[in-house]
Amino acid sequence: MFADVVLSEYSRNIDRILTYIVPDGINDIKIGTKVLVPVNRSKVEGYVINLSEKTDVPIDKVKPIVDVVNDITLFDDKLLDLALWMKDYYKCNISESLQCIIPSGTKSGIKKVKTVRLNNGFVDDCKITPKQLEIINYLKKNDLVALSDLVKDLNVSYSTVNSLFKKGIVSVDYKEINRFKATDCNRTKKHIPTKEQEQVISEVKKIIGKNIFEKYLLFGVTGSGKTEVYLQLIEKCIELGKEAIVLVPEISLTPQTIERFVSRFGNLVAVLHSGLSDGERFDEWRKIVNGDVKIVVGVRNAVFAPFSNLGLIIIDEEHETTYKQSDFKPKYNVKEVAEKRCEIEKAILLLGSATPQVETYYKALNKEYRLLRLNNRIRVNLPEVEIVNMSRELADGNNSIFSRKLYYEIKKNLIKGEQTILFLNRRGFSSFVVCRDCGYVPECPNCDISLTYHADDGKLKCHYCGYNINTVRTCPKCGSKRIRYLGIGTERVEKEVKRLFPKSRVLRMDIDTTKTKGAHEKIFNEFRSGNADILIGTQMISKGFDIPNVTLVGVILADITLNIPDFRSGERTFQLLTQVAGRAGRGEKPGRVIIQTYEDDNYSIIAAKNQDYEAFFNEEIHYRETYMYPPFTHLLNILISGPEKNNVISSAALVHNLIIKTINKNEIKSYNKVLGPSSAPIERIKNNYRWQIIVKSVKRSVLEDICDALNNHNFMKGIKLSYDLDPLNL
Ligand code: ADP
Ligand code: ZN
Ligand code: ZN
Repeated sequence: MFADVVLSEYSRNIDRILTYIVPDGINDIKIGTKVLVPVNRSKVEGYVINLSEKTDVPIDKVKPIVDVVNDITLFDDKLLDLALWMKDYYKCNISESLQCIIPSGTKSGIKKVKTVRLNNGFVDDCKITPKQLEIINYLKKNDLVALSDLVKDLNVSYSTVNSLFKKGIVSVDYKEINRFKATDCNRTKKHIPTKEQEQVISEVKKIIGKNIFEKYLLFGVTGSGKTEVYLQLIEKCIELGKEAIVLVPEISLTPQTIERFVSRFGNLVAVLHSGLSDGERFDEWRKIVNGDVKIVVGVRNAVFAPFSNLGLIIIDEEHETTYKQSDFKPKYNVKEVAEKRCEIEKAILLLGSATPQVETYYKALNKEYRLLRLNNRIRVNLPEVEIVNMSRELADGNNSIFSRKLYYEIKKNLIKGEQTILFLNRRGFSSFVVCRDCGYVPECPNCDISLTYHADDGKLKCHYCGYNINTVRTCPKCGSKRIRYLGIGTERVEKEVKRLFPKSRVLRMDIDTTKTKGAHEKIFNEFRSGNADILIGTQMISKGFDIPNVTLVGVILADITLNIPDFRSGERTFQLLTQVAGRAGRGEKPGRVIIQTYEDDNYSIIAAKNQDYEAFFNEEIHYRETYMYPPFTHLLNILISGPEKNNVISSAALVHNLIIKTINKNEIKSYNKVLGPSSAPIERIKNNYRWQIIVKSVKRSVLEDICDALNNHNFMKGIKLSYDLDPLNL
């Protein structure tokens, strides 16, 4: 028997796959086994990806495998297929795509600890102390517990447990235990679906468990009961002996979300989030492999959950950009990976959103996804939304960050004892310039995105193509001299609220206040339980919050998202405003939303006010087509970085040449456009200069060829090159 082994240590961009003999003494080698193999004079680790009786390699060249590193199978042939597809689609090595699939924490292995359990048929002994009785009662409720947990939870000593052991009441053992204990919560019953929900559920139910690959988009307004639809479909899925994966964005993996799944399905659910230690993650992974759980709720990498009979993958809030992994190779989009996995496993993919990504909705209209709709909120109607023009406020002599309208509404809520959310998305690095009289924002004539102000050289620059102009002092549109840089943040809002409403109880949730573990939960729980009147926050508070007493949402400045230098800024604004507005009026009382802006004629803001996705989409898709952005093109973003500025610039020029050559080699001519080289949005990080080139093409294959060309090229020492195919953030 021969085994093809991918070496986990590889050089540069080339995979090393070598063939070895499986020696007689080692039997348990399968696809997915981690093995130790000889290479030259040393021994390295690798993964078995193929087994066969024959090999083309001359037999005297084939060496035997030295040992099995890990006696668990790390992936099966279906997950291997997925990794092979990722390698081709995202242009990475097989060893890199396998790293996505293999659980981190295989090194921590299985943990055995001292455990305690109650012996069967023990006799109640009158000489039992109250402490000992406490232990017995605890063990009656918990079958098997770690000794250290028992001692800690009940605050008893080891000797107390030991005396019970000596009396033969409990037994102590070394056992494998699970490091992650899910929080207990009450079981909830399912809702009787509304007519709308029933229609959606029955349509998907028809093909669940039939081994048919199908893709759906569930487009339902906030609060329309999408989650209930998910729950009932999952129930059907496990009834039929299949398993389900639910993906949620990191920020909405709140205790509230987890609760909704755990309270319905109890210990059939495993939760995978980034807060788990390697050991905990590995234990959850083993529960999945062993069939102890049937449902996985998690962030991005839960898509690789090693189920063997997968029936359904749900991606909630499918428009979220955190579904794209863009930190390391392979830079994958979990929606595409999930789709491929469903195709391989003949399972169902269900995407859900109140504000679908433009590309997704476009595909749904073109019948690539089946479109399912929920048009009505379950409880109350959608909130009333009002736009306030901040230039007019200023003209009327109000230069506070609060419009008069928002000020009075906050005041009213404080008097009525109802809660308020104030939202400001001060995210990112760039400040932008706006005319305070007419709302004009300078834009790039080539790319139609807003220019970013650079304080170092006082220029306004385009981050796509490098176009730049000197800072404007008078507005080219209305001639006003009141040109401002916008740079307010949540901290400033908090200060203002405390100044204007000194008696109000205020909480703030942003990156700065949620650095410590559990801080996010703490703030949320405090607000939910009514211990604060006003919550100020960034996009962290835009979703997942279902708090009935919140009746007012104020958006301090919608323009911040509108003017991020990204062609998706209109889409982001619409999504964020819709999500944030959806926090208001989820209980009995109706909700109000006030959006403050300088650009009250912008289509994203108007569509958000009217909560009209279609109106937004129709404008947006027209803009995308005119400027040839996705879904009409694919993008490739290439980043060249290094410590020597000149080397970075000359390497960027070289990359540019390679791109042009590759494009010209393509036989069938189609739309291609190369933007840059230009300095990246953040020009220098940790003394590394960063330049970027963006390529737009109607054909993804052209971009793939460019990646191949880059991978086959040797760049100057010290130069680092990375690329992102179909990036979600530019
Ligand atoms: P979405 O996920 O679309 O935002 P949710 O699933 O959170 O909506 O539903 C909103 C609220 O309505 C939740 O509190 C949920 O428990 C409740 N709900 C959902 N479906 C029903 C139903 N059929 N009957 C009664 N209440 C429901
Ligand atoms: Zn102006
Ligand atoms: Zn430009």
